[in-house]
Amino acid sequence: MPERRVIDLRSDTVTLPSEAMRRAIAEAPVGDDVLGEDPTVIQLEETAAERTGKEAALFVTSGTMSNLVAIMTHCDRGDEAIVGGESHILHYEVASAAAVAGVQLRAATNDARGRFDPAEVRSLIRGENVHFPRTALLCLENTQNRCGGAVIAQEHVEELAALAHERGVRVHIDGARIFNAAVAQGLPVATLAAPADSIGFCLSKGLGAPVGSVLCGDAGFIARARKVRKMLGGGMRQAGVIAAAGVYALEHMVGRLAEDHEHARQLARGLAQLPMVELDPLRIETNIVIFRVRGDWQEFARALQAAGVLASVYGERTMRMVTHDGIDRADIDDVLARVRDLAASRV
Ligand SMILES: *Cc1c(COP(=O)(O)O)cnc(C)c1O
Repeated sequence: MPERRVIDLRSDTVTLPSEAMRRAIAEAPVGDDVLGEDPTVIQLEETAAERTGKEAALFVTSGTMSNLVAIMTHCDRGDEAIVGGESHILHYEVASAAAVAGVQLRAATNDARGRFDPAEVRSLIRGENVHFPRTALLCLENTQNRCGGAVIAQEHVEELAALAHERGVRVHIDGARIFNAAVAQGLPVATLAAPADSIGFCLSKGLGAPVGSVLCGDAGFIARARKVRKMLGGGMRQAGVIAAAGVYALEHMVGRLAEDHEHARQLARGLAQLPMVELDPLRIETNIVIFRVRGDWQEFARALQAAGVLASVYGERTMRMVTHDGIDRADIDDVLARVRDLAASRV
């Protein structure tokens, strides 16, 4: 058998910069951004603010830093932030809210589609009592990674933001994949971000840039966030070199996310036909396919990797595949053929 190409569906973070993006990087005018003198970073921040409908924006190293800076800017030490029980902040950010920000996280249940129960969120917002931390922040996530890249319906976001704001609680959206949510619904990112006080998004996932996220909010919030970023060591100098990729991504890579979503549906329809896969293909809304494996799932995971298909193990019996710029329709056909071979060899 000829050596087979590895098809990497572990994450949309594995995307590599295109030739055109590399040219944009090479040609970017730069300066010292800590002194506010990098024209390309300024261009990225202005573009990001405009796309999210916020007054200002701040270029940061990662989605994790974007969330931490947002938490530290919205909250004082000893405050509490409500996050989803299936949120990235709770699961994958090394407890930075606790360890660095001194902020206690309180989890509200996410259902399978990433939604909260508004009554539960209302009950988690604390009143005034000498024993209690102050509830300072509610964090939403759109799309919701651990809930299969689910799009959070706009009316739901609006309802949650309104009930938080009524009680003086600010709202942050972890919008690592907000452009996927926007493309999936045919709505502008600014509409999705409007109910929130701040939103962060990743340039380094489906948008294909090598590095970076942008945190957006009103001018006062971003001015304070800029100092927090500096405190965390995130003040970068000629950062236009990497911001140029972000500018390019916002101008050229957003529209193509629809292809990733189509490929994810194609993948899900094929996987759902296999007896060892548990998956509802109608639930695929964006570029993430999470499925459960019946039978010996560890053996399945090993065999899949041996067949040159890379996926993430997301817990007992649960695996995740993510489509991205490096994956085309033929790759999905190829993945499905390899998985069908595996299935056939198991019976
Ligand atoms: C990837 C991701 C992050 C973190 O981004 P990094 O750049 O990997 O730190 C935050 N939130 C969500 C929902 C993500 O998917």
